[in-house]
Amino acid sequence: MTAAVLNADLHCHSSLSDGTLEPEALAARAAANGVELWSLTDHDVLDGQRRARDAAAALGLRYVTGVEISVSFVGTTVHIVGLGFDVDNQALAAGLTATRGGRHERALGMAQGLAQVGIRDTFEGALRYAGNPDLIARTHFARHLVDRGICSDTHEVFRKYLVPGKPGYVPHQWASLGQAVRWIREAGGVGVIAHPARYKLTPNEEYALFSEFKAHGGLGVEVVTGSHTAAEAVRYADTAREFELLASRGSDFHSPEESRADLGSLPPLPAGLTPVWSMLA
Ligand code: AMP
Ligand code: MN
Ligand code: MN
Ligand code: MN
Repeated sequence: MTAAVLNADLHCHSSLSDGTLEPEALAARAAANGVELWSLTDHDVLDGQRRARDAAAALGLRYVTGVEISVSFVGTTVHIVGLGFDVDNQALAAGLTATRGGRHERALGMAQGLAQVGIRDTFEGALRYAGNPDLIARTHFARHLVDRGICSDTHEVFRKYLVPGKPGYVPHQWASLGQAVRWIREAGGVGVIAHPARYKLTPNEEYALFSEFKAHGGLGVEVVTGSHTAAEAVRYADTAREFELLASRGSDFHSPEESRADLGSLPPLPAGLTPVWSMLA
């Protein structure tokens, strides 16, 4: 499975976190789009893993276990994708339970912040969008506000209400970088820095992220993702070479209506990189 041109899609979300499709529908969509190696990487939760694996097996689609862990790093939120771990590992499960633990309180705080600018009753509204009440996310608030006609799309909701400095933003303490990388590694998986271009880090902070990630045993970085432009893919291909990291590729697909990149639709990895799937069974 080392071919660099393999149509691998190792990042997407189901309705068990903040996607809109069930794992079975995602598997069918991945197969229809020509994906050859697939992973479902829901935020902080493994509830969809068996369903995804079984649905993929029924379609003859190769599957690797996945998760996207929320991490607090120098005051910002960073996402670490884990791939190819043992889904029954107890320490990973306990770590994820702790990481998602504060989401309910945080969502209440978000609703309070929105109420202060006159947008009431958003907790109940957002919860209706959450397929998994344990995993209420900003995305669910965004869909609810679009549904109410307050904004025309979810990106506008984030920009106006849900990012730092805006009324619906509540700072939150997620896992530490070291914890997330260790949970993945000790469960036999590969840790990958998700969509690095998305973080608002200074060059020094970004250097620290990559160095510390490696020191903790992290092995990969997303180079081609639905969250990167072509120029950003080129830039992080360089970073992957500089830090000797494996390169990953994933659409970060959430929904047919909202996502920029569909499953399996991204360009291949730039030349001269070692794909993360060379490490995955
Ligand atoms: P949370 O884990 O609750 O903080 O929600 C984070 C999720 O919000 C991400 O995984 C994305 O799916 C979504 N998100 C973050 N920023 C934006 C944005 N600017 N536009 C649309 N969705 C976003
Ligand atoms: Mn998401
Ligand atoms: Mn992410
Ligand atoms: Mn994601």
